[in-house]
Amino acid sequence: MSSIKEYFASVGSGIKSLVRGMEVTGKELVTPKITECYPENRESLKISDRFRAELTLKYDDEGHHKCIGCGICQMNCPNGTITLQTKMVDLPNGKKKRQLDKYFYDLGSCTFCMLCVTSCPQDALEFSNDFEQAVFTRDKLVKQLNYRPEPEPEPVAVAPAPEAAPAPKPAAEKPEAPVNPENK
Ligand code: SF4
Ligand code: SF4
Repeated sequence: MSSIKEYFASVGSGIKSLVRGMEVTGKELVTPKITECYPENRESLKISDRFRAELTLKYDDEGHHKCIGCGICQMNCPNGTITLQTKMVDLPNGKKKRQLDKYFYDLGSCTFCMLCVTSCPQDALEFSNDFEQAVFTRDKLVKQLNYRPEPEPEPVAVAPAPEAAPAPKPAAEKPEAPVNPENK
């Protein structure tokens, strides 16, 4: 008796799910269709600003980036996508300073997790939404992000030398006392 009950219960459940599926299909049949004619619509294509397509260094209007070559992004990247090369440069004040030489990014191994962006203390990184990254060989996916010339080190303001104190004037010679003709 119980097996007959189970049979009809499962038939009822099957019909219910079939009706639900037909309902979704019917709704999609009457929904207006949107077809992106890519690449013909490349000029008008709108990609979300938040889409993570490729890691980039932020550049200001003068072509300077803010990366100081600290290596934190490289350390935080979980799969070795970032490779930094740094160099020591001489400053005008005679001191030395570490500076970014080459910033390599392997788009082919990036998981777009954003750990590099969020951990950068200089806010020097961001993701672009340039999604067209197809290439024929994987080595073309390794990109140098600091492709613009490095800014020259800021000149150090040299304090003006204190003016030399004027030399003391030689003591004026004592004028000879006039000779009294009576004393002669
Ligand atoms: S991008 Fe940021 S975290 Fe990475 S080396 Fe440059 S300053 Fe450091
Ligand atoms: S997004 Fe993630 S995987 Fe990609 S470079 Fe940054 S830390 Fe590495």
